[in-house]
Amino acid sequence: MSERVIPLVDQRPSGRAMPSALPAAPSLSSSRPPAMPLDALKRPLRDLRISVTDRCNFRCSYCMPKSVFDKDYQYLPQSALLSFEEISRTAKLFASLGVTKLRLTGGEPLLRKHIEVLIAMLAELRTPSGAPLDITLTTNGSLLAKKAAALKAAGLQRVTVSLDGLDDTVFRQMNDVDFPVRDVLAGIEAAQAVGLGPIKVNMVVKRGTNEHEIVPMARFFKGTGVVLRFIEYMDVGATNGWRMDEVLPSADVIARLQAHWPMVALDAAAPGETAQRWGYAKAGGGHDASAGEIGVISSVTQAFCGDCNRARLSTEGQIYLCLFATHGHDLRALLRAGASDEDIAGSISALWSGRTDRYSQLRAMQPPEASEPGARRVEMSYIGG
Ligand code: SAM
Ligand code: SF4
Ligand code: SF4
Repeated sequence: MSERVIPLVDQRPSGRAMPSALPAAPSLSSSRPPAMPLDALKRPLRDLRISVTDRCNFRCSYCMPKSVFDKDYQYLPQSALLSFEEISRTAKLFASLGVTKLRLTGGEPLLRKHIEVLIAMLAELRTPSGAPLDITLTTNGSLLAKKAAALKAAGLQRVTVSLDGLDDTVFRQMNDVDFPVRDVLAGIEAAQAVGLGPIKVNMVVKRGTNEHEIVPMARFFKGTGVVLRFIEYMDVGATNGWRMDEVLPSADVIARLQAHWPMVALDAAAPGETAQRWGYAKAGGGHDASAGEIGVISSVTQAFCGDCNRARLSTEGQIYLCLFATHGHDLRALLRAGASDEDIAGSISALWSGRTDRYSQLRAMQPPEASEPGARRVEMSYIGG
């Protein structure tokens, strides 16, 4: 992969070489954009999630538990990270293959120095039909109050903020660095004030840990324009000690909400959307748009691989075709070997064309009881959510 020192417990699987480009189809004009590939299950490529750092100032137990990500953990050296030029070139090539949406993530993306410079570069990109890309960012919110205005000015459209509860004691325990709820709420307010909306708030629900926060969170965000999304605790990575009995199925989340407010199922806003949408109902039925909506992301109990159109780019330039993949494909090697745009786009296209990943669907047929320490799936903090 690179000459970096391999830590004793390296959670980053080694990458594979990218496939070489398929022979180009004969075309009348050399300026024609490359064809947009479908994968082996006929899914298009629409969404690229870009991890800009493997570091984080939180230690959420379901993502970067302190026992593994301690003071001796060896993060990637600066030289291993993709530069902003490499990231924006990669995003441009992905856009030429059908990607219309970019999500910056991590680790904590706001820890990457001068992230707004990268956002401004990405905001210049266009789809083959000339439309700007949809650019969003997922953050723990800790630096958002400080950075919201600069992010907006650089061209960021929206943010998703993670917040696992309003109870300060519970939240401080879950982030495991004693970070207070009020500072995340200040970040959400600042993002709303500068127009980084509609804001989404992600709450990972762990049975027995923060399930009692479901209703207070819904009550707090109802009618504010913020879309709260409840995420089933996932068996991503190999370090969080995941257990099935700590997963609270989305159906239970909806049932708990329905005990307080009548809810109506809403149609998906876009194909490949990860969340199922639910709205608060009006007195006579139908959706009360002024009360807003919530989402549930049921990656454990209801697989949504069928229309998964997401690729992921790790901090060091590995392409992952699935959140649960055990290895990536080394795009950085191509970028740094001086490959042409055409060759790189061809390699990405060939890679996507061979994609068969559908981990959640397969898991639904044979659910794991606990995360297997030996299964070296990539960590969420490295690949991004
Ligand atoms: N640090 C940023 C944040 O927390 O928003 C961005 C990266 S984080 C890996 C992206 C999203 O993944 C967050 O909303 C987080 O709650 C979610 N996540 C992390 N580990 C998870 C797990 N085991 N199950 C479900 N969601 C998880
Ligand atoms: Fe950090 Fe986000 Fe992972 Fe929490 S979920 S440890 S904030 S990367
Ligand atoms: Fe997509 Fe993999 Fe998640 Fe299925 S398990 S929805 S293929 S990322």
